[in-house]
Amino acid sequence: MTFESSPVRTDWTRDEIAALFDLPFTELVFRAAEVHRANHPANQVQRSTLLSIKTGGCPEDCGYCSQSAHADTGLKATKLMDPRAVLQAAAQAKDHGSTRFCMGAAWRNPKDRDMPAIVEMVKGVRAMGMETCMTLGMLTDAQAKTLADAGLDYYNHNIDTSPERYGEVITTRSFEERLETLEHVREAGINVCCGGIVGMGETRGDRVGFIHALATLPVHPGSVPVNALVPVKGTVLGDMLADTPLAMIDDIEFVRTVAVARITMPRSMVRLSAGRESMSDATQALCFLAGANSIFTGDKLLTAGNAGDDKDAALFARLGITPMAAECKVELEAAE
Ligand code: SF4
Repeated sequence: MTFESSPVRTDWTRDEIAALFDLPFTELVFRAAEVHRANHPANQVQRSTLLSIKTGGCPEDCGYCSQSAHADTGLKATKLMDPRAVLQAAAQAKDHGSTRFCMGAAWRNPKDRDMPAIVEMVKGVRAMGMETCMTLGMLTDAQAKTLADAGLDYYNHNIDTSPERYGEVITTRSFEERLETLEHVREAGINVCCGGIVGMGETRGDRVGFIHALATLPVHPGSVPVNALVPVKGTVLGDMLADTPLAMIDDIEFVRTVAVARITMPRSMVRLSAGRESMSDATQALCFLAGANSIFTGDKLLTAGNAGDDKDAALFARLGITPMAAECKVELEAAE
């Protein structure tokens, strides 16, 4: 299904985005709902499943992540999974109604020796008729092309937060390196999945900067995951927030962030990701009203808990939401 009705702008200014955040709450959600309805089926939500194909021991120092070797979370590092086990998990996800299978590895970047197994996973999942997404860290130009040739549909690479805040959250790589990998992915012809995390103790100004960075990319990401930090003891941010719980984002501000993402990136899929497990049904319903139209299903999100299939099915039934079929996804076009 292709929708033509909303112009796609990549020239948003920070002031415009700040003004959206400042709108009265119901006005903001109303506008976001209008944009949502003009560009997507209003009561359909895409379901994706995320599998950790290589857990823990990551050399990066992302302050929110339990998989970082710099964190003290007791998480046991594993090797890259056997492609056959990955395909088994994908088949199960398909049986549970997922239309996209996302595979994540806790790496700074994949080694070339890992690529044959990765390619096997992509080809195998695609052969099941599901969309594929990978998140493997930074990619070279050549690795992006290899993944494109294997038929990878999406590559996830989050910018995490605003460019200004980035260095306070991660020191082992730069915001510019993130943008470089996104460019390699785009140039290889793979759809970009890119979002970040709110509730990391950032300011409203950082949330403005975060959405601004996404909405002014040369092409909007096809998927925009909006995560709420799940504080994990032993990580820098988890420990910090345990001492200052007021720094955590409140539900209204989270819904505002979803609404602003929807308005500024009208054709993207806006995905509720980590943090959904602890959200009330009412908050999730507000997020759907504000334009979120994709969720992760299953009991686990990499190493964090998730809402679980039964709970989601009950919520969908109460809200009259139907799962989005794979062919219903919006075709993104380059921004005019
Ligand atoms: S978020 Fe990714 S890159 Fe950062 S530490 Fe965790 S696994 Fe590594």
